[in-house]
Amino acid sequence: MSKEALKHEKQQDIQLYINGEFVDSASGKTFENFNPFTNEQVNVVAEGDKADIEQAVAAAREAFDNGPWGTMKLKERMKYIYKIADLIDEEVERIAYLESLDTGLPISQTTNMVARASENFRFYARMVEARLVGEAYQVDDEFINYTLNTPVGVAGLITPWNAPFMLETWKVAPALATGNTVVLKPAEFSPLSANLLAEVIDRSGIPAGVFNVVHGFGETAGDALVKHPDVQLISFTGETTTGSTIIKNSADTLKSVSMELGGKSPIIVFDDADFDRALDACIWGIFSFNGERCTANSRLFLQEGIKDRFVEALKERVLNINLGNPLDYNTQVGPLIHKEHYDKVVSYLQIAKEEGCEVFTSEISEENKKGNFVAPTLLLNATNDMRVAQEEIFGPVMAVMTFKDEEEAVRLANDIAYGLAGYVWTNDGKRGHRVAHALEAGMIWVNAQNVRDLRTPFGGSKDSGIGREGGHYGFGFYTEQKIVHVAIGNHRIPQFGK
Ligand code: NAD
Repeated sequence: MSKEALKHEKQQDIQLYINGEFVDSASGKTFENFNPFTNEQVNVVAEGDKADIEQAVAAAREAFDNGPWGTMKLKERMKYIYKIADLIDEEVERIAYLESLDTGLPISQTTNMVARASENFRFYARMVEARLVGEAYQVDDEFINYTLNTPVGVAGLITPWNAPFMLETWKVAPALATGNTVVLKPAEFSPLSANLLAEVIDRSGIPAGVFNVVHGFGETAGDALVKHPDVQLISFTGETTTGSTIIKNSADTLKSVSMELGGKSPIIVFDDADFDRALDACIWGIFSFNGERCTANSRLFLQEGIKDRFVEALKERVLNINLGNPLDYNTQVGPLIHKEHYDKVVSYLQIAKEEGCEVFTSEISEENKKGNFVAPTLLLNATNDMRVAQEEIFGPVMAVMTFKDEEEAVRLANDIAYGLAGYVWTNDGKRGHRVAHALEAGMIWVNAQNVRDLRTPFGGSKDSGIGREGGHYGFGFYTEQKIVHVAIGNHRIPQFGK
């Protein structure tokens, strides 16, 4: 379908995808899905809850225990994974369009993001073929012990709305490639591309029950998935407080959990940094994806020598950023996902004023006022103890602070509960490494914006998460490691009662 035709397409209402069928929710209930640019309804979505989760998990369990998936030869399983990747490639324009319509993320950015989604499937297919290998342990001439990697069972995947398709495929691909079956609970604010993922996977011909999608709210559908005794693991991406609730709720059924949580990441710019590149990276890092980015550099620490010049340059850029329709390729910042989230972000601008910041931002034009727009905003004269410097705002808002020397920069950057990402800009190579080592975060970039390599570990420390996704790091999570001990000699066996 052409780009123009996509714009005139009416979005159909969305059903759940359970056991290879698109179905209404058991209760018949639905919820409304809104366009963040107009706040008009896009469509309605089947609202799954406990009953639907029961059905989806039963289907996934059956497909794992008795369906062909559990016994399928690796090569055949991978054919489905590669096929899904090919089918995603055929749909890239449509997925990007739906993602922008649903979330308000600018289409130039969703296009790049979803182009990488098919690579998630290919990458994990290759990874499983090449790197999901066991180990052998020789014990003198008595034993040979070897490890096997087996799928865990039914994987419950719970995802947020800020990069929906990318994050869903980032979990679905390794879960399926390693041989698990899946129940996905996508975020309620962004159901469109998750529905398309179900359509694409359905078209791949994958056996019924291997992949299921239950739309619905976190407190009902998500909660039922987390508590279900037949679900072995939960991979979650979302807010830190939700992650903590999920860990508590999954305890009774002893699930393994992977937690990719919130962030409030520092960017440290030293006087000797490449000024223009640091400026570009700093602006992109906070205002791309509407600032709704877990690894956003929402805390800027400027060394005192460049502070004035850097802040002036930031102000000039902030006033020039294009706000507008997320479906327009020239738009750089679109509306926030939902009215509720908009209210939260705006409340932080008020808090910033009360805490003594100068709130520097541009005007929202009349035509954008119907959408959930927050213009790119600098919180000048912030200090690290303020709420706006400590709490995740998750919008296009950056707290700007200063430091004297390396010791102070590291101390301030680490003085926070989160530990997801960090960015360092300096032309002193030794110092770049030193600061990278000292920062308490899972992922650091030195003289770079957030460019990722799928082979590397992804995840956070402190309140930003537990565990690592990406590369072979997820294998431990999506597989059981079994050890087989084989006697090859006559080792001693105690002879009780002889
Ligand atoms: P959220 O925690 O509100 O929701 C995420 C998902 O959890 C949704 O599908 C929601 O329905 C579900 N959920 C909510 N309550 C639940 C419960 N009690 N039981 C089970 N499921 C429940 O997060 P959000 O607002 O959708 O996303 C934004 C957050 O995600 C930010 O904090 C951001 O930093 C974080 N995030 C982290 C990463 C990362 O990799 N670390 C990546 C993207 C986003």
